[in-house]
Amino acid sequence: MIIAIDGPAGSGKSTIARELSRRLGFEKLDTGAMYRAVAFSALDRGIDLDDEAAVDALASAITIRFTPGESGGSITVDGRDVSREIRTPLVDANVSKVSAYPGVRTAMLEPQRAVAQYHDVVAEGRDIGTVVFPDAEVKVFLTADPRVRAQRRVLQRHGGDVADAHALESEVAETLASIERRDALDASRDVAPLVAAPDAVQIDSTAFTIDEVTDQIADLVAQ
Ligand code: C5P
Repeated sequence: MIIAIDGPAGSGKSTIARELSRRLGFEKLDTGAMYRAVAFSALDRGIDLDDEAAVDALASAITIRFTPGESGGSITVDGRDVSREIRTPLVDANVSKVSAYPGVRTAMLEPQRAVAQYHDVVAEGRDIGTVVFPDAEVKVFLTADPRVRAQRRVLQRHGGDVADAHALESEVAETLASIERRDALDASRDVAPLVAAPDAVQIDSTAFTIDEVTDQIADLVAQ
């Protein structure tokens, strides 16, 4: 079985996919992490991100692997653990450029589909229900109010332990600007744009907890 969860940045896809895969005993596939790994590797090797051919070649040449584990597991590029490096503001700001390149997307497609060959999967990203697994048994398009998404991201970054929330206000504003910019780029690109599959169930998580949304998706799976 394949459960596809798509949606904009910070909508809670990763957390919910992790919780759901844990509950159901499915593999979890974080496709955003793969595009982040390509962006990070290009930056790390000094490749000009405007050089589409060079970025495409890099995406085809590197080997990206996931190792499951607590708090999301780890991701490696050619054996190097880049789990932390792919979550920086620099990667946030550049990932949409590389993910818009058709050659990069083609290079990611085969390893993404391979995960489902031998396992039940909860896959999350932007084009899971439309391109990667159009025949997924359950498709969810997860949204949330942009400001709430930015607040959740900031709280996550600070481990939920926030002594003075006011001090975080500027960080929330910055994060909001960053995710809105990324959403706009992801939604307007020519290939595999961020859009709900026609047969996806839309869930607005603004007013729900992680457990509540996970319950809703688990109910869809049970139907
Ligand atoms: O999910 P996350 O926010 O980590 O994704 C990072 C970026 O990777 C997105 O902003 C998007 O540009 C790209 N992405 C994509 N297709 C996917 C998953 C992510 O283009 N299926």
